[in-house]
This record gives sequence, C-alpha cells and structure tokens, in this order.
Amino acid sequence: MKFYLVEGITLKGSDFGDGHRMLTVVTKDLGKIKVVAYGAKKVKSKKRGALLEFTRTNIYLRKNKEYFVAEQAEGLEYFPNLYGTKALLDAAAEIAWLTDRFWPWEQENFKLYNWILYSFRFLNNGVWSKLILRNFELKLLAFTGFKPVTTHCAICRKPYRGEWWYFGAGEGGVVCPDCRLETGFYFEVTPEILKNINTLLLAGPEKLANLSIEERVLERIKAILEYFLGFQLGEKIKLL
Ligand SMILES: [Zn+2]
Repeated sequence: MKFYLVEGITLKGSDFGDGHRMLTVVTKDLGKIKVVAYGAKKVKSKKRGALLEFTRTNIYLRKNKEYFVAEQAEGLEYFPNLYGTKALLDAAAEIAWLTDRFWPWEQENFKLYNWILYSFRFLNNGVWSKLILRNFELKLLAFTGFKPVTTHCAICRKPYRGEWWYFGAGEGGVVCPDCRLETGFYFEVTPEILKNINTLLLAGPEKLANLSIEERVLERIKAILEYFLGFQLGEKIKLL
C-alpha cells in the first residue's frame, strides 16, 4: 500500500453508504483523482470541512488497487464568500464543472491547478465574476491544449491586422475573409473583441482584478466561448 500527502481542491462529491463521500479532487502532484472519504459526513469528522468543495486542502491519502482513500485532511485556504451568495457559488461551480470536463484523470496540470486557485480567490474577494469566468475559460483552453488562434489566420497564417474577421470552432480560432468557408458557422470578430480576448488570455493574476472590459464585450466573448468550449466537448453548453 502506498501513502501520499498531496495538496488538492475538491471539485465535486457525492454521498454513498453510511456517511461516506466519493470525491473528484484536483491535486498539485497527482493530477485529477477520485478519492473516497469514509465517514466524511459524520459531524465530528475533521475531514468534513477540509474536503468541502472549493477548499484548498492538504490530504493524506492511501492508495488501494482502484482508488485513493482520504486518511486525514487539513484545510489550508477557505473561500467562505463562495457559499454566501448563489451567484458566486454558481460561478465556482462552473469553474469546477469545466475543469472536470477538460482535465483527464491522473494527469498533472500545475498551471490549471494554480489558475483555479486564483479564480476562487478573486471570486471570494468580490472581483467581477464575469471577468473572472471569461479569463478562466480562456486559460483553461490554453492549459489543456485548445488555446484559440487569435493572432493570425488559423488556415493561411496571414497576420491579423485589425480587420473584421471570423471565429471558427473547427478551424480552432480566427480565419481571414479569404479562408472563411461559405457553408461554415462563424462569429464575426471585430478588433475590439479580439484585442480583449488576447488581453484575457495573457493576463497574469496581478493584472486581472484591474482589467476594465465593457459588459457588452464580455457578453460577445461569452457567446464565442460557449460555442468553442461546447465544440471541444461535443455538446451544447451554457455559461454564466
Ligand atoms: Zn486565411
């Protein structure tokens, strides 16, 4: 039997048996794993709070043949405001849902792990959730190998110089008017939209809270991301 001490964040959990929880946890060192927490729902369990969704936690694990079992858990960072308002809880849940869909089992993704933490901190501190979500969605795409092409035509590689172009999911980003297919489905992108997508894609955590992007621009970016993320997942999705 192997033992581990990992830092992780619970994305989701479900109850089973007599007060047990089956959790999906993203960790720094082991990637996304399934963790069983026996007795986690019992009132006296120390694991209970620490393994709550969206908490940064040190978890002591042992590995069975099939899954990890949480022996003990110690909360490192809590985001209490996420539980205080429905809008913030929904935003955190969207981040967790998208992460779960895009992060394969037991693959490390240190950058994505950190970005989930930044996003939860910003949401907890009251930074505009629409800004945090659009930034998270673009970073998620970038960190899982689906970064949209935004600086040149995805087909002919002609550099983008500020014209009206088109965003195509199958092409993986923007295409110039010459490469646009008559029969394809595209979003028109203006220089303003593309500039702000690039700003969100490149923004470091120190810049993010101070970005000023108009709501109508973020709404347009949301429509493009709903389409693009949905295309990668093979289903229609709705973003907040
Ligand atoms: Zn082209």
